[in-house]
This record gives sequence, structure tokens and C-alpha cells, in this order.
Amino acid sequence: MLKLSAAARQAINAHARETYPHECCGVMIGRPATGARIATEAQRCGNLNTQRAHDRFELDPKDYMRLDRQAQKRGLEIVGIYHSHPDHPAKPSQTDLNAAWEGYSYVIVSVQKGEPKDFNSFELKGTAFEQEKIENA
Ligand SMILES: [Zn+2]
Repeated sequence: MLKLSAAARQAINAHARETYPHECCGVMIGRPATGARIATEAQRCGNLNTQRAHDRFELDPKDYMRLDRQAQKRGLEIVGIYHSHPDHPAKPSQTDLNAAWEGYSYVIVSVQKGEPKDFNSFELKGTAFEQEKIENA
């Protein structure tokens, strides 16, 4: 389960709206808890994939490293990754699955005609994604 703050959810939706019709991506920061991950904030990362930015994302590892260090200094950590699916359902693609790690929440927000709609979170279990519940943090 992912416990997500309202501020983090708003930040993800705003980012997804701004980058439409391209994909946005970023990290969620918070802390792991028993039976859940708690994400209190969302931070933007660059999308290195400019060739197919409408349906692929490649999170800039430099942004990831920087945000990871900043979170650790505050006693927090990266608990998940978010990205948008412009004009596609909020379901992981095969590419998303290939790039996923266990122990993270993967939020996907579907953006339909420029407006963020469905908002789902998934976690990797073995070799497949399972949708997880999102609650307000
Ligand atoms: Zn995707």
C-alpha cells in the first residue's frame, strides 16, 4: 500500500499536465512503514528520452542521485517513482516492467487530452506488477 500526501498527489498531477503530450517522471520521497510506503512529497526528474517522450521515459540518474542524497540528509528516502501516460491508460507497459525494482511504488497517472485522470500505483512482485491501494497520508 502507498500512503500519499495530498501535496505529493497534486505535484504529480501538475507535472503530468505541464509536460503533456510528453511523459513526465519523478520520485516520491518519504519513508517505508510496516505494510506500506509513505510518500510525503514528489520531486521532478528530467526525462532523458526525447526521441519517444510521448510514450517512454528514462529518469535522469543525476536527478535521482541528487534527490536521494537530499532525502537522506533529512532522514527520508526515495520510496517510489512516478510517471505519466499521455492519452494511455494508467497501466504499466512492458518497458515499465523491465525497468522496475522491488520495494518501490510505481505511480502512473493517465493524462487524457491534457487533463490528469486515473491515478494508480503498482509494486513489483517477482516478475509482475501488482496494483496497490493508495490512501491519503
Ligand atoms: Zn509507462
